[in-house]
Amino acid sequence: MIVDTYNRVHDYLRISLTDRCNLRCFYCMPEESYDFAPMKHLMQAGEVESIARSFVDLGVNKIRLTGGEPMVRSDFGEIILRLAKLPVSLHITTNAILLDRYFDVLKEARIDTLNISLDTLSREKFIRLTRRDKFDVTIQNIRSSLKQGFRIKINMVVMRDFNEDELLDFVEWTKNEDLEVRFIEFMPFEGNKWTSNQVFSLEEILSTISGRYEVQAVAGSLHDTAKHYQIAGHKGSFSIISTMSAPFCDGCNRLRLTADGKMKNCLFSKDESDLLGALRKGLPVEPLIQQNILTKAAKLGGQFHSNFNELKQETLENRSMISIGG
Ligand code: SAM
Ligand code: SF4
Repeated sequence: MIVDTYNRVHDYLRISLTDRCNLRCFYCMPEESYDFAPMKHLMQAGEVESIARSFVDLGVNKIRLTGGEPMVRSDFGEIILRLAKLPVSLHITTNAILLDRYFDVLKEARIDTLNISLDTLSREKFIRLTRRDKFDVTIQNIRSSLKQGFRIKINMVVMRDFNEDELLDFVEWTKNEDLEVRFIEFMPFEGNKWTSNQVFSLEEILSTISGRYEVQAVAGSLHDTAKHYQIAGHKGSFSIISTMSAPFCDGCNRLRLTADGKMKNCLFSKDESDLLGALRKGLPVEPLIQQNILTKAAKLGGQFHSNFNELKQETLENRSMISIGG
């Protein structure tokens, strides 16, 4: 088992496959020139499988593939099918741009739920946010994946003065469509120009939605990052991921592996363990995993607390989101 000093058992691994992406979302990727990791520094398909196996041997039973955009890797299909052989539930987070190429592979790997990022329903805003003109293909692929029978969760990062005015439009979408919209509080990472006043908090999101709809809270479980809500008569539902205003660290069971094979025990942890370096030297990675987990802080990588109003992004020691893996 992978257990930290607060007795939290860790059985969920999020693997970033690449720091490359076909979008340039300003909240994720530094605006100034960003140096992508050279391909030879990234885990190769067999190395992803091998390191994942070590985690599974230590008790991991859920794996999520993320990035960067995981589907930009030419060996994405191979990696999915290799990991599908492990005794884990397999998940993916994607921007959906290349999704239609992989419907068959995803089905073969028995992936039935897709987390898809979409922060605005406006084409013009999408282009401003992502610095790419890919709105139509994103929407088209979300529609196709619903038709293909996948369960869809939409990730929407809510930012004050950018898209908080669209909350009700996203909720309205769940009226006739059986999907879950997950509203995510904006988080600070290297180079994303985060400021505390841009965070549109759990409380503000709920009060905006409750102004229009009768909202019912749905009971969750210990490891949930999202707080779930239902509106009577809606086929779908919504949830809120309140990392900044109401963190959920007490029930944390999550571990991360960056695309260059470094283990992080928290999205905000400073320390990393080089599992890929060890693997390439023929050394076992399990001892490094066990050493790493003992350094896990109680909350938020030990770098800040839920009174985020005082926080300055520049004081955090971390990578950019695109190089950690969301
Ligand atoms: N490319 C894929 C995608 O966009 O879904 C996977 C990687 S992305 C880094 C994973 C998730 O992190 C996305 O839902 C994205 O919206 C979220 N994310 C990125 N930067 C964020 C930030 N600063 N605050 C909150 N969520 C963020
Ligand atoms: Fe790419 Fe996803 Fe980051 Fe946007 S959020 S830049 S789609 S990795």
